[in-house]
Amino acid sequence: MKALVYRGPGKSALEERPKPEPTASTDAVVRITKTTICGTDLHILKGDVRSCAPGRILGHEGVGVVDSIGAAVTSFRPGDHVIVSCISSCGKCEYCRRGMYSHCVNGGWILGNTIDGTQAEYVRIPFADTSLYHVPAGTEEEALVMLSDILPTGFECGVLNGKVQPGSTVAIVGAGPIGLAVLLTAQFYSPAEIIMIDLDDNRLEVAKLFGATTVINNQNGGAVDTIMKMTSNRGVDTAIEAVGVPASFVTCEDIVAPGGTIANIGVHGVKADLHLERLWNRNITIATRLVDTATTPMLLKTVVAHKVDPGRLITHRFKLSEITAAYETFGHAAKTKALKVIIEACSDTS
Ligand code: ZN
Ligand code: ZN
Repeated sequence: MKALVYRGPGKSALEERPKPEPTASTDAVVRITKTTICGTDLHILKGDVRSCAPGRILGHEGVGVVDSIGAAVTSFRPGDHVIVSCISSCGKCEYCRRGMYSHCVNGGWILGNTIDGTQAEYVRIPFADTSLYHVPAGTEEEALVMLSDILPTGFECGVLNGKVQPGSTVAIVGAGPIGLAVLLTAQFYSPAEIIMIDLDDNRLEVAKLFGATTVINNQNGGAVDTIMKMTSNRGVDTAIEAVGVPASFVTCEDIVAPGGTIANIGVHGVKADLHLERLWNRNITIATRLVDTATTPMLLKTVVAHKVDPGRLITHRFKLSEITAAYETFGHAAKTKALKVIIEACSDTS
């Protein structure tokens, strides 16, 4: 089969690899029909993710068809149309029993990290019963690729951890795919204001279409002043960091109102300053999280019911043979206006 293989910092190649087989009785092998590229894949390619060794097949998102199963898999059969979760969960360990699947002691984020991932024609999924989801008949496959990672990440790490409430004021720092996923799912709770901050006018235009009430281009660094003026110097109830650099976390510290919450989503590679000298008496909460995908079944229902359409995040489509071009497009988003790119791995969905 064809697969995109990480070959060390700055290097990847589309290679011929053996088709995987179930190795444990709880495994399933899924024939991938659609996959996508995550910002995390770009971090891996930069060499930022030490746990991902050269030789690894990349990718942790996708939809496909079950090809084969181990003897202990009971919820899925060959031929079943499935969503692959970016988090593999055994369902049995202490963290899994608490719904903290991201910290599963036997799984967690392993796909395309410590085991081979989904940017391939086939992928082996451990703990298939608790790591795959059935695709409801008649739903749009492409949109469901967003349920592997970005929609639950935006919702759990941003909206739930940020305690978004009816009538509240929310600021999202970063209008990339994750920030936009926060924007889409924050509206479940009817906040009064959703302010989107970014450096890219195109992404801010998209944010307006997706429901942002105010957009601020922070190229000149004026976002904090603008937000403080807008809120009578109070700040926002929820400040969501969706970039992963120190400056955007500090922006959240600068705009959070007394009693408010900072929810961090970004993957941080270097330390960010915690301004306790200003925040110690402001009754704020700072939340961090790796997506647990515990809300995926709920989000799937909202997608099926057309309460939210994550397919709006898809801007480009490629074949697996063109995956290098897909990475180029995704990696130069300011120029290409890319949000999420869909990669068709196997065309046959029967
Ligand atoms: Zn991801
Ligand atoms: Zn577990």
